[in-house]
Amino acid sequence: MKGHNAGHQALRAEIAACTRIMNMDGLIDYSGHVSARLPDGSGLLIQSFDDSRAALEPEDLLVCDFDGNVLTGKEGKKSPREIYIHSEIMRARPDVNAVGHFHPETATMFTLVEDRPLIPVKNHAARWSGGIPVHPDPGHINSVSLGKELADTLGACHAALIRAHGVVVTAESVPALLVDSVHFEENANTLFHAAALGTVRGLSNDEMTAFMSRFNRPAHIKKLWKYYLGRAVNEGKIPAAWLPDL
Ligand SMILES: [Zn+2]
Repeated sequence: MKGHNAGHQALRAEIAACTRIMNMDGLIDYSGHVSARLPDGSGLLIQSFDDSRAALEPEDLLVCDFDGNVLTGKEGKKSPREIYIHSEIMRARPDVNAVGHFHPETATMFTLVEDRPLIPVKNHAARWSGGIPVHPDPGHINSVSLGKELADTLGACHAALIRAHGVVVTAESVPALLVDSVHFEENANTLFHAAALGTVRGLSNDEMTAFMSRFNRPAHIKKLWKYYLGRAVNEGKIPAAWLPDL
């Protein structure tokens, strides 16, 4: 299709880099996807159903509308079946510019037990002080109505678990999404290990408020984005040409 890769080059490179980095560190494997709202709000960028998460190229990304239709993309490329996770959350949440859906082992495990909810225990998990709701339907979110149901479960929160399936993380930008996704699974891992040691004491609301009041989110995102991009280049996971000036 003519003009499939026109425009949004920096945003495309961010999504491809974020996907490869999440693959490098095991957050995304053979499935899972990262999307970003187009700056003019006319749609979203997302990878195709079956392009490899380990080798995603900026020009592979599809432009889709909020009904899940592919507007532009290479011939024959289909959107992921679960594009409605992304489109319906973006439709419901104007503050969200990037969405990640993936299936990390530890965080997902917390949807399988009755008496151990995933709560913020590590300082950066103060991001989720508003709660981490659990969506009850473990099936694929492959329609507008199922996407709306998930967006309802998410509400105003910054992440949700999908029972026996995976997670959805939302952020203001693609670098912020990477950082939040790292901290989300990190918090789940810490809770998992702490629970084996003894009675867990989660972060209190006061502790989370105090943490956030001294936390410089933009600077933290910039630091981690730089670290992960640098590591990905060194490990041959992304081309050095993708590195922006940081
Ligand atoms: Zn899924």
